Amino acid sequence: MKNDTKPNVTASYVGLAIGDALGATTEFMTPREIQASYGVHNRIIGGGWLHLRPGRVTDDTEMSLALGKSIIDSGGFCLSSVGDHFVTWMRSKPVDIGSTVRKGIRDYMLNGTTISDESEMSAGNGAAMRNLPVIIYCLKKWDYFEDMTLHQSHLTHNNAKSDLITLCFGEMVKVLLDTGDKLKALNIANKLIKIHPKFSYSRYKGESSGYIVDTFKTVLHHFADSSDFEETLLRVVNQGGDADTNGAIAGMLAGALYGMDSIPGKWLRKVDQNVISDIKIQTKKLLELPVRYSDEV
Ligand SMILES: [Mg+2]
Repeated sequence: MKNDTKPNVTASYVGLAIGDALGATTEFMTPREIQASYGVHNRIIGGGWLHLRPGRVTDDTEMSLALGKSIIDSGGFCLSSVGDHFVTWMRSKPVDIGSTVRKGIRDYMLNGTTISDESEMSAGNGAAMRNLPVIIYCLKKWDYFEDMTLHQSHLTHNNAKSDLITLCFGEMVKVLLDTGDKLKALNIANKLIKIHPKFSYSRYKGESSGYIVDTFKTVLHHFADSSDFEETLLRVVNQGGDADTNGAIAGMLAGALYGMDSIPGKWLRKVDQNVISDIKIQTKKLLELPVRYSDEV
């Protein structure tokens, strides 16, 4: 694939950054608190518990960019390079870093550990939030998608539920980019729910924490019931909880489905323009680069 023949690829990555920047304001708030403070939270204004400047993105976008940069710099997927890029990112004193992510990167840095211990503690959404560069990279040759996804995930999150849902989001993004068919994408999620009924979002009760199953339910419930990019994101970030990560993942799906034209200009102009520029460059390079492992992993 020489050119970006799937125009919504960039929108998916930009959507992720916008969901992150918009949701960071309402992270850890309840819907009631959000309503009392903002009515409907619908502007990229920064603030939140991290006291961000407007447009600032957080770990969701930054770790995605680190993963994408690793693939590009290595000329392929190389697990030690991914680990090294995560170390570089952690050393840059990020504005936010989850405890499971910090532990995984520290274990890699100090001991070269590339597979973190399996535990329920690692059933957070930290692997799913950063996997988009692998999805984009594998679009032209999907055979390696599962393998590369699990390798990058297990650096910090080694958990069966995280694996299943991270893979499911990836399959959904691919189908959305390939076909633009929302029902087909939802069917992928529904197949997973048939095997794991606890993942069902049909009776969603507002569980919006950073637990990967809650993230799955929050994103799917609002993605399924919305009809454009803006509605999807507004519903997710006004749910509070892990609003930046849930917003980022919802933005990834909604961007892939609805495309750049659907992204409100007020959000696109407000989000950090250096990030948008990096995303556009990365997307082009990831689409062009042949899919391969650059060394043994
Ligand atoms: Mg975040």
